[in-house]
Order: sequence, then C-alpha cells, then structure tokens
Amino acid sequence: MEADQPKSTGSPRTRAGLSVDDYVEGVLAGNRATLARAITLIESNSPLHEHQAQEVLRLLLPHTGKAKRVGITGVPGVGKSTFIESFGTMLVRARHKLAVLAIDPTSTRSGGSILGDKTRMERLSREPNAFIRPSPAGANLGGVARRTREAMLFCEAAGFDIILIETVGVGQSETALRSMVDFFLLLQLPGAGDELQAMKKGIVEMADLVLINKADGDNRPRAELARAEQDATLHYLQPVTPEWKTAVRLSSGLTGEGVTEAWEIIERFYRQLEPKGILARRRQQQALDWLGDLIQDELRRSFYHDPRVTEQLPATQAALLRGELTAVQAARKLLATHAGAMPPPTQ
Ligand code: GDP
Repeated sequence: MEADQPKSTGSPRTRAGLSVDDYVEGVLAGNRATLARAITLIESNSPLHEHQAQEVLRLLLPHTGKAKRVGITGVPGVGKSTFIESFGTMLVRARHKLAVLAIDPTSTRSGGSILGDKTRMERLSREPNAFIRPSPAGANLGGVARRTREAMLFCEAAGFDIILIETVGVGQSETALRSMVDFFLLLQLPGAGDELQAMKKGIVEMADLVLINKADGDNRPRAELARAEQDATLHYLQPVTPEWKTAVRLSSGLTGEGVTEAWEIIERFYRQLEPKGILARRRQQQALDWLGDLIQDELRRSFYHDPRVTEQLPATQAALLRGELTAVQAARKLLATHAGAMPPPTQ
C-alpha cells in the first residue's frame, strides 16, 4: 500500500450496486445522493459494509480536513434548530457549502430522536448548498459519535467547507462533540437559574463562544443579566482553546440578532489560531484520542463477548462477594482468561 497514493483494493460491488470506487468518485464529485449512500454505508452494522466503508474512507482521507468544524449544543428547547436555520441560511447565501450533522444517542433509547425530527430546519433543507443529515442511530454514544465523525469526513471530501454538528445538551454527548470539532458554540437560555448554570459549568468550560439565545421581546433584560453573569463566570475559567478568550453574546434565531456576529467570531477564531498551529494540534490530539477510544471500545467489547469470560464471570463475581478474592485478583483472573496469558503486573 502506498501511503501517498492510496488505491482501492478493488472490493466487489455492494448489494446496492456501488463499488468502493463508485462511492469515492461520487463523493469527490460532490454527488449528494452518493454522499448520502456512503454515510448510510458507514452507519451499517454489517462487517462487509464496515470493510467497504473503511476502504472508501481511507481513499477519501487525503481530501478531508479542509472544512471548518463547528459544534453547537444547548438544552432541548434552547432554540438550536431555529438558530441553525437562520445561521445556515446566511452561510449558504454567502456561497458556503454547509453540512449539518448530529450526535443524538437518545434516539435508540427513547425510540424517538430528539434531533432527527424531519420537520426541523425545513427552509435550510431546501437550500441546494446545504446537506442535513439526522443523527445516526446507535446503542451507545461511542458508536453514534464514531459514525458522525466519519460522516463529517465524507462531507469534507464532498466539498462542504463548513460542517456544523449539533448535539442535544443532556449529557456526555457534548464531550463527544467537543472531541471532533475545532470550535464549540453553546446556546444558553436567558434567566436559567443559578442551579442550572452551575450544572452546566462543565459545558461552559468547553465553549469557545456562549450565546444567550432568545434574547428578544420580554426576555431581553433577563438575557442581558445572564450575559453579565456568564461573562463573570468565564473570567475564572481556564480557556478551552489556548490564546482564545471565550466570548458571551446575545442572540435570537427568531430576529436573526447575533447570527452574523457569531460567524464573524468563528472566522476570527480561525484567522487568529490557524497560523499559530493551535487548530492543527487540536486535530492531531483529537485523532489520537479517537484511536485510543476505539481501541478501548474494541477491547471492552471483545472481553465481554468472550465465551470464556462470560462463563467464568458469575463464579468470579461470587468469589469476590464472598471475600475469597480481592477485586484486583478477580479482574486479573478474568483478564488472564481472556488474553490467554496476561503480562505480569508491572509493580
Ligand atoms: P431546539 O430544541 O433547541 O432545537 O429548539 P427549537 O429551535 O426547536 O425551539 C424551541 C422553541 O423555542 C420553538 O417554539 C421556537 O419557536 C422557540 N424559539 C427558538 N428560537 C427562538 C428565539 O430566538 N426567540 C424566541 N422568543 N423563541 C425562540
């Protein structure tokens, strides 16, 4: 395999009739139907599809990485889809090509996706330069996030210059989102109580820009207060991005206030940090973290699916509960069963 000139391994056509080369050519030509099918291939659980999808991705990799990767989060009802509609429409009118993706691990748990609702972003979805893809389904966050990340790479290869990834702010998915974007935008509600602000502190710490959204009509005075409070909180936090001060602004997806300014701030972020190599370093670290996560996931999966482990697990658990084995001894015993021969402890 030549690293600089990747070639297809000539895998056969899929059932649907597209070969790896068909996918690659279609995506590179910016063919939206092929892009959509390529993402579907990535979302498949079949090992054959996984093999093909990874091969397509490998061939597309040299064409990825040029887009601005922006994450957006906020609690349900904060106004994400209304904001994205307004923000996205502004971008495509300015001749950008925008892909909107999502991470929503709640979709399989609740039986209905919070972010997958087709009526969302109706206006934007009709724009020829916008591509909107609902969150992939998945049993766990890791799987959903992986598929979104790979979909992002496909969209980049298809020529989209801005990738906006949305997640609903209800848990770990913000961390997963943060680990795949350059810029992280948090929408906050005006007048959310101290308690909520405190709960969300961890998420504020990850943000490159905080927008106090719905800052219109009667909400205005509360929004201004929230902005001042948020500004004060941020003063004490370590900035998530080196050499970048997280700004707090007011916005309204309804009136369009703050939408253009948000984009100007994002552009400034790239102008200031790209030449310093800060974003390249962030992406490298993200790629290494991602590899680490994949290895951990696979090790965990292979351990718990190992019939030798599942057979021994109940007896080992019982021995632990009876106090016959320490937790470390029990873990080592099961790991040794799985690995055949575990290396001896280092200390
Ligand atoms: P999401 O769940 O975060 O995607 O929120 P939506 O965009 O679906 O908005 C939730 C509700 O808030 C809807 O009823 C919107 O009409 C309303 N909404 C969204 N943005 C704004 C805004 O900027 N100002 C006001 N006043 N209402 C908004």
